[in-house]
Amino acid sequence: MNEDFRIPEKGLGREEVMAALTSRKTGDPDYKAPRTWSLVYYLDDEHTRLVQEAYNLYFSENALNPIAFKSLKGMEHEGVRMTAEMLHGDGETVGTMTSGGTESCLLAVKTWRDYARAKKRLIRKPEMIVADTAHVAWLKGGEYFDVKVVPVPVGKDLRLDPEETARKINRNTILIVASAPDYPHGMIDPIEELGALAQGRGIPLHVDSCLGGFLLPFVDGEVGRIPPFDFRVPGVCSISADVHKYGFAAKGASVILYRNMDYMEHQFFIDQNWPGGVFLSHGLLGTRPGGAIAAAWASMMAIGKEGYRGYARSTLEVTDRLKSGITDIEGLEILGNPQASVFSYGSTERGLDIYAIGDQMEERGWHIDRLQRPEGLHAMVTPRHALVVDRYLADLREAVSTVRADPKLKRKGDAAMYGMISRVPIRRAIRAEVRKMARALYGPENRMP
Ligand SMILES: *Cc1c(COP(=O)(O)O)cnc(C)c1O
Repeated sequence: MNEDFRIPEKGLGREEVMAALTSRKTGDPDYKAPRTWSLVYYLDDEHTRLVQEAYNLYFSENALNPIAFKSLKGMEHEGVRMTAEMLHGDGETVGTMTSGGTESCLLAVKTWRDYARAKKRLIRKPEMIVADTAHVAWLKGGEYFDVKVVPVPVGKDLRLDPEETARKINRNTILIVASAPDYPHGMIDPIEELGALAQGRGIPLHVDSCLGGFLLPFVDGEVGRIPPFDFRVPGVCSISADVHKYGFAAKGASVILYRNMDYMEHQFFIDQNWPGGVFLSHGLLGTRPGGAIAAAWASMMAIGKEGYRGYARSTLEVTDRLKSGITDIEGLEILGNPQASVFSYGSTERGLDIYAIGDQMEERGWHIDRLQRPEGLHAMVTPRHALVVDRYLADLREAVSTVRADPKLKRKGDAAMYGMISRVPIRRAIRAEVRKMARALYGPENRMP
């Protein structure tokens, strides 16, 4: 055993522990500058303090038992109702708070599987239709809950094609998943067409608005580019929306909504015989942090619709500046025609390797996600990125010239690895490599292979 990592025989005391924690942060990505383009949705210190205080006020409370802490049940209820109203639900719309987008997606898979089992006798092996661009949480849900994922390659416009979708429907289909918007490219799938298709075939349509749920509803008519994507659209039966993304809550908060209780009922887990007591649970978790619920409630109440409208406007302004700046750089193009606050871009020139450009940007201090199939770089924009638009574009122009001048850069650094991973035709080989990496990362030595 590694002796360095035992629980210390004698506790270190508050000061030493805090000093250690603080110093450990120094090498982490700077999300306040902001240097990051995913992972953190940070507005400013003032809002963060409020959310922290709300979290701390309910730090020890546990929302496992819906009856014990009535305060939490109340805030969860109100958080769900506010989200339902925002997404044009009605008096029948119901939902629950969850620990995040992944839990919301996993629960939707479980709920619709069990709904289908209850309603349709003919289903032998449940299937769900999912665009290539849908969040990976849906693939995870399929694997966890044994629902076959039927992938639909997105069309040229990078959106889920209703005709392709229709072709994949069969009597085992329990669910169609659409995104508003999708994480990789920020495209909003054609929700109205898909809703009509789903309704006509008697299959539920889930709209994954984990990312955009707290942004799209607040995009005003002037920027006005968001077609209806929520409960206004017939056929939309459930929606997920993350409060810990553009709701600017503390991490650990998402909402899953259903058009009515006859649907949501299938999300519940009940056991009446457990010696620990009669048990009812609506989600994946047992113990649930009360702080996350309180912070989500507090964030919605503090920001308000007016605040969210302002953030949506500035987010899209920043996004537009970035996109047009990138379009102006020769050799780069925005992938698809994204309408929301997320986009990706790739290279239009043979010799200009987009991953090598990514490496150059990393060297200039940016943390950027790489996409594959198609190859690209990614940006998830918040209002705070207004601070860095010019700097980012200037660095990007430089990065492009550097790579154009030295195309061999694509065989160096991370670019070589990303390029290899993206281009290897035998995808199973990649899977085996990643498994090896996971074993090393989570092994006793916590090392990168
Ligand atoms: C972020 C995201 C998820 C997953 O949410 P987590 O909170 O990261 O678990 C699911 N779907 C979409 C479209 C997302 O952007």
